Amino acid sequence: MHNHPVLVLGGGQLGLMMAEAATHLGVVVDRLDTATDQLIPGTSNLRVDTDLTVLLRRYSVITAEMEHLPNNELVTALRDSNLWANGSAFYILPARNRQKSLLDEIGVNNAPWQMLQVVDDLPAVHDALGETLIIKTTRGGYDGKGQWVIPRGIQHDIPPSAFGELIAEQKVDFSREVSLVGARASNGQTLFYPLAENHHHQGILRFSIAPARASSHLQAEAEQMLTKIMERLNYVGVMAMECFEVDGKLMVNELAPRVHNSGHWSQTGSGVNQFDLHIRALSGVVFPKVPSFRSTLMMNLIGCDYHPHWNQIDGVHCYWYAKEKRENRKLGHINISQIDLGDIQGKAECLRPLLDEEHRSMLDLAMLRF
Ligand code: ATP
Ligand code: MG
Repeated sequence: MHNHPVLVLGGGQLGLMMAEAATHLGVVVDRLDTATDQLIPGTSNLRVDTDLTVLLRRYSVITAEMEHLPNNELVTALRDSNLWANGSAFYILPARNRQKSLLDEIGVNNAPWQMLQVVDDLPAVHDALGETLIIKTTRGGYDGKGQWVIPRGIQHDIPPSAFGELIAEQKVDFSREVSLVGARASNGQTLFYPLAENHHHQGILRFSIAPARASSHLQAEAEQMLTKIMERLNYVGVMAMECFEVDGKLMVNELAPRVHNSGHWSQTGSGVNQFDLHIRALSGVVFPKVPSFRSTLMMNLIGCDYHPHWNQIDGVHCYWYAKEKRENRKLGHINISQIDLGDIQGKAECLRPLLDEEHRSMLDLAMLRF
């Protein structure tokens, strides 16, 4: 019996899926809603008042489902405690400038960049990085928020107050986006999933295909890069590395010190999913031998309504997060894994009529790529 209860900071779907995976491992995973400082036991939606003393006594290790954590008193105290698992990763990675400096320092290829301090620096930054820049806030961005695409000389709408907390990146002319999700145990052992191929629309991940097509030549390079990063941070748990493929080589876009949307395919596509692996790493349950993998399509359900018939199609697995519907919000995802040849296309055909127009066109796009 393993007895290392894990506390996850954050009350969203990633922590929920960790709690679900942990039930099979004999490990207790509870979550802390950092907006209200309330404890959410296991996979329930109960919210229970708590305090620092209780939390420090009850849990053996503290992790998070998001890198942008609030600085409130309770979260700060938990992060200052010796239960907090990945202090340096959570100090460095949430700030894009620190993250990219680390990559430069250890020689991991990433999109060329500079700090952008004042608006008058723009012409010089264009001279250094190119005619089109991607400007990003150093902190807090997700799903393409806090980003601006700026061609030279164009009137832009970056708020003046953002300057000083911005980086400028070269606009990378990539052939595709892939990500590597992997885990490191406290004894240094690592385990990696095959690369996933990711398709974004308006800055939001729409679908992933795993293993990425024709990617065997990239896998070893990706694993070396992520190993170097995790070792440098003495990291324990699952980390995700988003990359651009440029001329058959990888360039890191960004790192996430957590389970990742582009790893959701592993819930049906692998014998051991990323949530399971993260909890194993943190609570000292041994890693599996290399798990088996099945070709999988993961499609995000964004800003749409739940359709009860999705889960009626054999082989179509819908994960619905029961979050409030909002435009452009990730509300669930669907996995379809390959069992026999032609299987995914057949399942996709059954799913297609049950989708709204936007998701139908994403599914059609995904099928063209398969
Ligand atoms: P996430 O939701 O993954 O946290 P994010 O909002 O933090 O995303 P990024 O991953 O940095 O932001 O960027 C979102 C998408 O914008 C990328 O997946 C890519 O499609 C595009 N993009 C970002 N940076 C660049 C770049 N330097 N050159 C070209 N495209 C880029
Ligand atoms: Mg990203």
